[in-house]
Amino acid sequence: MKTSEVLANRLPDVKEIHIVWMTSGLSCDGDSISTTAATLPSIEDVVMGNIPGLPKVHLHNPVLAYEVGGDFMKYWHMAAQGKLDPFVLVLEGSVPNESIKAEGYWAAMGTDPHTGQPITTNEWIDRLAPKALAIVCAGTCATYGGIHAMEGNPTGAMGLADYLGWNWRSKAGLPIVNVPGCPVQPDNMMETLLYLLYQVAGLAPMIPLDEQLRPTWLFGKTVHEGCDRGSYYEQADFAHEYGSPKCLVKVGCWGPVVNCNVTKRGWMDGIGGCPNVGGICIGCTMPGFPDKFMPFMDAPPGASLSTSVVGMWGGVVRKLRAITNRTVNKEPKWHHRGPELTTGYRPKYYGNGHGRG
Ligand code: SF4
Ligand code: SF4
Repeated sequence: MKTSEVLANRLPDVKEIHIVWMTSGLSCDGDSISTTAATLPSIEDVVMGNIPGLPKVHLHNPVLAYEVGGDFMKYWHMAAQGKLDPFVLVLEGSVPNESIKAEGYWAAMGTDPHTGQPITTNEWIDRLAPKALAIVCAGTCATYGGIHAMEGNPTGAMGLADYLGWNWRSKAGLPIVNVPGCPVQPDNMMETLLYLLYQVAGLAPMIPLDEQLRPTWLFGKTVHEGCDRGSYYEQADFAHEYGSPKCLVKVGCWGPVVNCNVTKRGWMDGIGGCPNVGGICIGCTMPGFPDKFMPFMDAPPGASLSTSVVGMWGGVVRKLRAITNRTVNKEPKWHHRGPELTTGYRPKYYGNGHGRG
């Protein structure tokens, strides 16, 4: 039997798994909404069991669930009591600092039946993290703090690794898995979840992550390296206003220094994106987002040096290419219907009695 047949017929190590998806960090639910646009795979493909070899997946996400109120919250309480095993915890939204105030709460979900008080997001993290097989942070708020953690915020918000520690490991030995983006790119999120499900099923090795705990195959390259406007940059042909098809670096694009695959991947089914379709890259996947990229619509500080260097030869290269482009846009002169063959053909082999070489 071929290896592919063995894998297709192999039962997963884990038959069923739960995905407990908390949107109760400081969040806008944009990552949940974004993920509904995924096709590689889609949420439906995963929960309907359309992917061979995967465990049966039960998704508990408040934006998508049928259940409401106590019916929905029961899964959280079961997970905290160790009765929902195994589960992957997904966190959406940043983690507020609940220890900077004497009373009240910044973010919460559900009510503690004993105290009648809201259960804070932080309390849920403390209860669930030790029991989760893996934790995935969806979006830049959960990964690195994001917009809620920008300078001047009152909540002291942070990303999950700042809260649990960058060296945190799950009970299965997995580090926190960060899938940044504001919002997360749909297929980046589902592909990461799929990888983890394959890993749990015993069909994939440890997920490869970089120092910022991002999947390397998704965040190993820059926006600029995948941008289809890169040739304008190389030829020092820059947009000076929005709406231009040229390179956007002078109107605020941070693509050359940002780790993200959206220019290569598009947004939904290869359609849309950011600089590739006319929007500056504001670095929304980055740990330094948003403060280190503001004001967004000013040219990045390093852009004037790099564009001046490119400008020294880019203009000349562009003119030379324009000349060659005109040349290769013309057919060779022997394409005609005149009575003479002018292609340069010499009957070296045909018609000289020697047959074809
Ligand atoms: S638009 Fe941005 S990402 Fe694209 S080539 Fe220009 S600087 Fe690079
Ligand atoms: S290209 Fe830039 S703005 Fe667009 S998703 Fe990637 S990091 Fe965010």
